[in-house]
Amino acid sequence: MNITEIFETMDYGPAPESPTPALAWIKERQPFGLFVNGQWVKPASGQYLDSINPSTGKPLTQVAAANSEDVNAAVTAARTAFETWGKTPGHVRARYMYAIARHIQKHSRLLAVLESLDNGKPIRETRDIDIPLVARHFYYHAGWAQLMASELPGYEPVGVVGQIIPWNFPLLMLAWKIAPALAMGNTVVLKPARYTPLTALKFAEIVQEIGLPPGVVNILTGEASQVGEALVRHPDVNKIAFTGSTDVGRSLRRATAGSGKKLSLELGGKSPFIVFDDADLDSVVEGVVDAIWFNQGQVCCAGSRLLVQEDVAERLIAKLRARMEKLRIGDPLDKAVDIGAIVSSAQLKEIQRLVEQGVDEGAEMWQPSWACPTEGYFFPPTLFTNVSPATTIAQVEIFGPVLVSMTFRTPAEAVALANNTRYGLAASVWSENINLSLDVAPKLKAGTVWVNCTNLFDASSGFGGYRESGFGREGGKEGLYEYVRPACETAGPASTPSSKFPIAKGAVHPSNGSEPAIGTSLDEDERTVSEFEPSNGSRIALPAIDRTPKMFINGKQVRSDSGYSQDVYDPAGRVIGQVGEGNRKDIRNAVEAAHAASGWASSTTHNRAQILYYIAENLSVREGEFARRIVQQTGRSQADAITEVQAAISRLFSYAAWADKFEGVVHRPPLRGVVLAMEEPIGVIGMACPDEYPLLDFVSLVAPAIAMGNTVVVIPSQQSPLSATDCYQVLETSDLPDGVVNIVTGDRDMLSQVLADHDDVEAMWYFGSAEGCKRVELASASNMKRTWVNYGHPRNWLDPIQGEGEEFLRESTQVKNIWVPYGD
Ligand code: NAD
Repeated sequence: MNITEIFETMDYGPAPESPTPALAWIKERQPFGLFVNGQWVKPASGQYLDSINPSTGKPLTQVAAANSEDVNAAVTAARTAFETWGKTPGHVRARYMYAIARHIQKHSRLLAVLESLDNGKPIRETRDIDIPLVARHFYYHAGWAQLMASELPGYEPVGVVGQIIPWNFPLLMLAWKIAPALAMGNTVVLKPARYTPLTALKFAEIVQEIGLPPGVVNILTGEASQVGEALVRHPDVNKIAFTGSTDVGRSLRRATAGSGKKLSLELGGKSPFIVFDDADLDSVVEGVVDAIWFNQGQVCCAGSRLLVQEDVAERLIAKLRARMEKLRIGDPLDKAVDIGAIVSSAQLKEIQRLVEQGVDEGAEMWQPSWACPTEGYFFPPTLFTNVSPATTIAQVEIFGPVLVSMTFRTPAEAVALANNTRYGLAASVWSENINLSLDVAPKLKAGTVWVNCTNLFDASSGFGGYRESGFGREGGKEGLYEYVRPACETAGPASTPSSKFPIAKGAVHPSNGSEPAIGTSLDEDERTVSEFEPSNGSRIALPAIDRTPKMFINGKQVRSDSGYSQDVYDPAGRVIGQVGEGNRKDIRNAVEAAHAASGWASSTTHNRAQILYYIAENLSVREGEFARRIVQQTGRSQADAITEVQAAISRLFSYAAWADKFEGVVHRPPLRGVVLAMEEPIGVIGMACPDEYPLLDFVSLVAPAIAMGNTVVVIPSQQSPLSATDCYQVLETSDLPDGVVNIVTGDRDMLSQVLADHDDVEAMWYFGSAEGCKRVELASASNMKRTWVNYGHPRNWLDPIQGEGEEFLRESTQVKNIWVPYGD
C-alpha cells in the first residue's frame, strides 16, 4: 500500500509490540513456583496449571497449583514477618514501597506485555493505564506509610491479610490490595485469579529484588477451591480483602461470619451511563467507548447501561453505531487495537449466552459488520436497543463488550432508572449543565460518579461500592481504614460468651470498678409518691399512675403487634416496669417508617445539628429523672447515673458539632479537575444496643447515625430498656421528624435477626454476644448490608476514645467520589 492509498483509506497499519522478551522471561522460569517467605517453592501437591493466552487459546506456561498445605506455610510466614513488619517504622516501610514503585517503572514494559499476553487486554491499555496506575498506587501509599504515625494515631495494623483478586486488572488489583496493606504495617498472602497469575509472579520477583523482608508478601497461585477457600477459613488470617463477583463475595461474608476477621468486598456492578439532551454527543460517544469497550467490557464499573434522554437517543445511537463500525479488534499486542480478547473460553460462552438471552427477551441487537478473529476468544462490541428495564440483560452483569440502552424523559426518571439495580458501584453523568450534573450525582446510589468522563481511577480517590457492589474502599485515606483497627479494640471474637447482663445484679461497674449501689431502686418511692385528700379530710396514699412504655415508630408511641409485654427487673430482681415484646411486624413497620423518613438525608447539616443540640437541651432538663431511671435499672449510685446522663448530653453535643463538620474532602488526582469525596449516609441502619449503660449506649449509637443523615431502627438494651423508652418525650419535643428514630423493645437477638434479614435495611450494628454477632453477619449476606459488631467484647462507653468519634462517623457514612473534570 502506498502513501496515497493509506491517505485515502486512513487505515492503521499493524503496530505490533514484540512478545519476545516476555516469552523469554517466561521460558527461563517455567514451571512457576509459589512465592512463600521470600523464596520460590514447589507446590505441596506437585501439581501445575496451564495459563492460557486468550488471543490464541494456546497455553503460555504452567503455574503451581497451591493447596491448603501451601496456604498454611504462607500464613505462617506472614505471621512471623508481621511480628517485625508491624513494628517497623513508617519511614522504613515507605522506603521499601518507594523502591517497589521504582522497580515497577523499571520493568514497566515487561509487565505491560505479560499482562496483555496473559489477560488478552490491548497493550495500549496495559502500557498507558494499568501499569502507570500500579506504580502510582505504590508511590501514593509509600506516603501513607510515612505519615501513618501522625495521621492515624490510635490505629494499629490488622495483622495477616488474605487477599483474593480477579482477572480483569490482574496487577492493578494486586496493587490496590498490597499497597495499602503494607503501608499500614500488615503482611499479606495474595491469591491471583486462576486465569491471570503472571504479573503477580513478576511482582514477587520485584519484591525479592528490592529486598523486602521475607514473608511480608506471599503469592499463591492455584484454584479458588484449593487456595481461596483455605485462605478465607484460615484461623490465623485477620482480614480478607476480596475483589470479584457478588456471588463469591456473599459466600465469603458467610464463611467469615462471627470469626472476627475484617472483611472488605469490592464486587460487581451494572453501572448507568446517563446522557442528558444537552450533552456534547461526540464526547459522549468517546465516553461510551471507554465505558464499555475498555478492557472488552470486563470492568466492574463498566458503563454497561446507557440511559439516554429520549429526544437525543436516535442521534446518539446512530453516532455510536458509526463509531462501533470503526473499532479495531484483534491481537492485543498490536498498539493500534481497541479491543483485545476475552479472558477465557468460559467467559466468552457466558457472554454469548447472555446476548442470546437478550435477543430471546425481545431486545434489538446490533453489531458492526466486520468479523472477529477466528483464533482465540473474541467477541464483537454489541449494542442492544429497545431494552426493557426488567430484562436479564438490563439487570445482570454481563462482563463483556455488551451495552444495553434505554431512554428516559426527565432527570427524575433518569435517577430512578439508574438506581433500578441491586448494584451501586459507579455511574457517569453527561450534561453541559453543571447544575444538573451536580444535582443528579448525589442522588445516584453509587460509590463513584463521573461527570462528563468515565472509568477514571487514581490512588488518591477511594473506589468501592454501595449496596450489593460491596463495602470498603480502595484508595484515598478512606481506604486505609480497611487495613487498621483501633488500638483500643480487641481483635477476634470473645472466647467466653459475654454475660447477658454485664453490669446489673452486683456486677462490677466497667468504667471505674466500683461496686454498684444495689438496693437503691426507686420503685417504692415511685409507686407511692403522693397522697390523695378527699373532701372528707382523710388522707390516702396514692399509687403512681401506671406508665406503659410502648414502641416508638414513625414518631408515634404504638403498642407492640404481639400484644405481649416483657418484665423489666432491677438488679434485686424486682419488676420495675414492662415493655412491649416487639416482633417481626413491629420491625417491618419501623423499617417502613425509617424509609419514609429518608428526606432526613437531604436536610441541611445545620438543621441536623440544631436538632441534636435540642435533644441534648431537652435531655438536660430531665437530668434527674433520667439519672433516677438509671439507678433504678442498674443499681448504680446516683452520682454514677448522673455521670452517665451528662456523658449522654455531651455526646449529643459532639455529634451536633460533627453534623456539619464530617463532610469529606477534595482530592486532586493527576487530571485537570477535582474529585469530591463526599460522606453520604448509608440509609436505614438497624442497631442493637448493649446493656452496659442504658442511656449512654443508646445515645452513643443513635446520635452519630442521625447526625450523618441516616434513619434508624433501634433495639434498646434488653436488660434496661426504660432509659430509651423514656427518651420518646425528649425526641417528640425536639423537632425530630417522624420516622428518623424508631425504637422497638424486646429480645435483642430475635429482633436483630429480623433486622439483619431485612432487605430494606442497609446496615446493621450489633452490640451483644459473640454468637449474636455471627448470626447478624451471616444474615447480612442476603443484601450485602454493612455490619458493625463487637464480637462479644464489651467497650467502655464512658471513655470518649471508645464511645465516640471518628469510628462512629465512619460507620455511619459511605464515601462517594464525584469526579468533576474542568476546562474545555
Ligand atoms: P470471581 O468472584 O469468580 O473470582 C474472584 C477471585 O476469587 C478469583 O481469584 C477466584 O479464584 C477467587 N474465588 C472464587 N471463588 C472463591 C471462593 N469460594 N473462595 C475464595 N476465593 C474464591 O470473579 P472474577 O470472575 O475473577 O472477576 C469478575 C468479577 O469481579 C466481576 O463480578 C467484577 O465486577 C468483579 N470486580 C470488581 C471490582 C471492584 O473493584 N468492585 C474490580 C474488578 C472486578
